[in-house]
Order: sequence, then structure tokens, then C-alpha cells
Amino acid sequence: MAREDENRGFICINCGANVCALTNGGYRNHCPVCLCSVHVDVRPGDRRNECRGLMRPAGLAYRRKKGWQIVHVCERCGARGANLIAERTAQPDDPVSVARLAGGLREIEPAVIGTISRRR
Ligand SMILES: [Zn+2]
Ligand SMILES: [Zn+2]
Repeated sequence: MAREDENRGFICINCGANVCALTNGGYRNHCPVCLCSVHVDVRPGDRRNECRGLMRPAGLAYRRKKGWQIVHVCERCGARGANLIAERTAQPDDPVSVARLAGGLREIEPAVIGTISRRR
């Protein structure tokens, strides 16, 4: 099956967000709102895994050739996977969710961040 056939939208099973396909040529596999994914791939994009467990974001990893990736851990089987952060596309990953994953925003609520940026 062509890669384009797999690059399509989905409904997030964790938060119910209506997620559309990436428009930057990449392959979307996680929700831009809650950053959760579903364990469906053996290799990225192949949808051959029967697990179908919810993959929760567990942290960030940096690969020199690829950039920042979100590390996911499967709730059902414990498998780990890393996926590029979606940016420069329709529906980019929520920067507050990504920053919270990085550990820097645990104490700061989104409303506070909004207040800070309005002061500029
Ligand atoms: Zn979601
Ligand atoms: Zn799994």
C-alpha cells in the first residue's frame, strides 16, 4: 500500500479530537492535542501491529538527523516508540502539551502562559 494511503486523519481514542492528516509530507501517528498514539505499527506507517493499545507520551528524545521526537510507551504491551513532533503543518502539536512533556511547565497553567504573552 502506498504511503499516502496511510497518511489520513483519525479520531483520537484518548481525547476524541478530530485529527487531520499532516500537510508537511510527514506521517501523523499521534494526536496534536493530548499527544497520545495507538500501537498499530511494527515499522512506522505499516499498520501491521495487532496490539492496538493506547500509547501515552512518556518524554522527549533528540535525534541529530531527525530533530525532537515524542517517546511513546504502549499501555498494553509496554513497547516504546519515538515519533517526530508535528510542526509546520495543519494542526501542529500543541506547544503547551509538548512543553509539559519536557517537564518545564508542570507548575504553570495555560491561562498563566496567556497572561505572560499578553504583557509583551
Ligand atoms: Zn488526543
Ligand atoms: Zn502495544
